[in-house]
Order: sequence, then C-alpha cells, then structure tokens
Amino acid sequence: VTARVRLLSARQAVLDLLYPERCVGCGVFGCLLCAECRASLRPTTGAGRCPHCSAAWDGEGNCPRCFHWDALDGAAAAADMEGPARRLVHGLKYEGVRGLAREMAAAMQPLREARPFDFAIAIPLHPSRQRRRGFNQAELLLEALEWPRPEATLHRTRKTSTQVGMRLSERRANVVGAFDFRGPELAGATVALVDDVLTTGATANECARVLRDHGAGGVVALAFARASYRPEAQESDVIDD
Ligand SMILES: [Zn+2]
Ligand SMILES: [Zn+2]
Repeated sequence: VTARVRLLSARQAVLDLLYPERCVGCGVFGCLLCAECRASLRPTTGAGRCPHCSAAWDGEGNCPRCFHWDALDGAAAAADMEGPARRLVHGLKYEGVRGLAREMAAAMQPLREARPFDFAIAIPLHPSRQRRRGFNQAELLLEALEWPRPEATLHRTRKTSTQVGMRLSERRANVVGAFDFRGPELAGATVALVDDVLTTGATANECARVLRDHGAGGVVALAFARASYRPEAQESDVIDD
C-alpha cells in the first residue's frame, strides 16, 4: 500500500464525516443510490437490442458495431451509459467512491442468467494505472459480484494509450498484445469478462482472444454500463479503462 493510497483513504474518511451519504443519481440524502434511481437501471437485453452485443439496434440480426468481434460470443450490460448509470461509473472510477461498486454489482447480478458462464475475470488495468488510481474498478465490481473465478489470471503487460477519441481501428491496434495469461489452461470453460463500461468492445475482444488461446470454450463481456461509440465524443462521454 503506497503512501498515496493511505492518504486517499484518510481523505475519504474525512469526506464521509463532512458530507453524509447522498444518492449519486439525484442527490437525495441518506443513501448512495435511492430506490428510484436504482429502478431506472435497465439491462441492455431484449427487444430493440443487437442480440450479439446488446447495443440499441432496430435492424435485422447483428448490428454494425460488433462486426469486428472475432473472439467475443456476446455482451450485456446492466444499464445504458446515461443518467444515474453514468454518474455511478464516474463516482466509482474518478471520485473513488468504492461503496458504489456494491450498487453497481447488484444491478449486474441478473446478467449471469442472460449470458451464462463458468468463471469470471475482471479486465485488468496496467499496474502503473492501477497504482495511480489506487484500485481497479472492474476488480471491485467482481469482488462485489462474488462470481466464481478461475485459477488463472489476466494481466495487462503493455501500457496502452487512453482510447478516448480514437477511431475503432486505432482502438484495436492499441490493445493488440497488451494482455498476458498466467495459470492453468481453461480447458473449455466459458468465461465472463467483467468491466464497468463497454464501449467498442475492442479491449474485451482482445482479452477474449487471449483467453481462447488458453483454452476458453467461450467468452462473453458483462459490463455495468453500455456506452454508445462516437469517436467525436468528449472525454466525459466516452471513457475507457
Ligand atoms: Zn436518486
Ligand atoms: Zn451488435
């Protein structure tokens, strides 16, 4: 534990005293997420969705956003990246309100039935980024979800540029070869990749490719929020890692 992390948790303790809990969605006092904001989170499955990647889609078959997924068997999220869902993501990742992970995990729990799997793995951060942030938000979600994990682990061995504003082809090239598999082979097991936000799926697809190379029989991506992919969007709209 670095001095910076200790300092951050001491700072959090002081903030908790000064500022009592408020709903991250609407600001009402007394809880981190009120019943109304919780009820506004709707899984990205069913009618009006791409059956493969769960993006909003009215057309026939799979949508054009997931045509490049050659290793992922599908994806689902607990909510679209808007309203309270967006504020939950920002609160956890950028403001470090770790208690939000429990709320986000509760909303993700039904995804297990939508896309069944044997084991779940959190999408890893590069160690230097994790040190700077003090935690990996995907790991916090997986801890709160309590989904079964394989013995093997995934690691990000190459530092990738932030993907904000990148074109899809750039995003794909950015993550190729960035992940490393350690531990026993997966021997046909189906794996769920857990993350807070799914945007283009380029990162998840690259992780899925590595897992398949090590014996995964199938790989799905399960995220808290599904963000639509717009290369021209502002940093606050498209976030990755
Ligand atoms: Zn609320
Ligand atoms: Zn799709």
